[in-house]
Amino acid sequence: MFNKKTIRDVDVTNKKVLVRVDFNVPLKEDGVGDDTRIRAALPTITYLLEHHAAVILCSHLGRPKGGPDEKYSLKPVAAHLAGLLGMKVNFVSDCIGAEAEAAAKILKPGEVLVLENTRFHAEEEKNDMGMARQLASLADLFVNDAFGTAHRAHASTEGVTHFLPGVAGFLLEKEIRYLGQTVADPQRPFVAIMGGAKISDKIGVIRNLLKKADSILIGGGMANTFFKAQGLEMADSLVEGESLTLAEELLREAAGKIHLPVDMVIADKFDAEAAVKIIKAGNVPEGWRVLDIGPETVKAYANVIHGAGTVVWNGPMGVFEFPNFAKGTYGIAGAVAESKAISVIGGGESVAAIQQSGLADKITHISTGGGASLEMLEGLELPGVAALQDR
Ligand code: AMP
Repeated sequence: MFNKKTIRDVDVTNKKVLVRVDFNVPLKEDGVGDDTRIRAALPTITYLLEHHAAVILCSHLGRPKGGPDEKYSLKPVAAHLAGLLGMKVNFVSDCIGAEAEAAAKILKPGEVLVLENTRFHAEEEKNDMGMARQLASLADLFVNDAFGTAHRAHASTEGVTHFLPGVAGFLLEKEIRYLGQTVADPQRPFVAIMGGAKISDKIGVIRNLLKKADSILIGGGMANTFFKAQGLEMADSLVEGESLTLAEELLREAAGKIHLPVDMVIADKFDAEAAVKIIKAGNVPEGWRVLDIGPETVKAYANVIHGAGTVVWNGPMGVFEFPNFAKGTYGIAGAVAESKAISVIGGGESVAAIQQSGLADKITHISTGGGASLEMLEGLELPGVAALQDR
């Protein structure tokens, strides 16, 4: 259950509201590249403006080394936001200190102020209470709407709640509803699709989903490790030697829930132009490697997906960056898009894959967070969420 207060549960009128957003967007020479994350924060920002709050936005961007770095300035993001909102957006070149305090002080209800990158202070990632106190001093209320960083206890996500009441924004609420509640209380059958490079990255997720899901469909590089654990020869395929025992254990525990590919697309090198063959799942010939699931696997998995009540997907089925090895991922994307199930795509590379497939609008919820969405799927409570007020 989502048991945290949201901006709907508190009075924001005439308040100064500090909102932690996820404006960690790609920049290009003349401004913002992909603005998905900025758009995702608009419902919270416009709600606050309509309810006469003075809105102070803070975020990190990129990985500056704990000091100011023009390359990672939020200034172009503030300009882009002004365009999206159709209004003036103020900007101040530090997130704490005298200048920020003065800018926050004169901000009126219905106005917006963007603070400079929180990671221009090394204290941010150390969850330093001095920095958190300074940030908190700018406002009367804190709103966390930065799902992508909610799995990190930083000064602007967790620390600040020690000095200000904190509630959730609409994006955070939505992410938790879909990634948390859908998994905790799924419509059945509940089908999980897991892919990507490695098992070891996603072991917590697989274990949690094994408890909850009715079937887990495995693809991507991680399928190789499961095959190898069953004694098959994987030749030059990506295999995690150190995860073989784990893969064996999971297969034993899964009691038939884990589905593995029935055929595979193999290549003679890791290259977009490699020679390609489709073989039945089994020993991979010497000098070859598995780079995608095969067409029979797509059919078999699509059948399972077709009857699902809930589908959660994380990780591509193959090296979808190369068109010759993207058919498995796109085939599964098509099956998920067609199904009547509640469908949730859990962040990271899978989001890029679904967007490239052109089927994104057929998905119930596409997460804006990578690491945070994985931690949610693991069933963990995120520190940035735990710190907010209970309803
Ligand atoms: P992840 O971030 O763990 O979801 O992994 C995504 C990456 O896994 C993508 O960049 C894919 O290219 C890669 N991947 C998927 N299938 C395979 C495979 N069979 N062999 C090697 N890499 C793969």
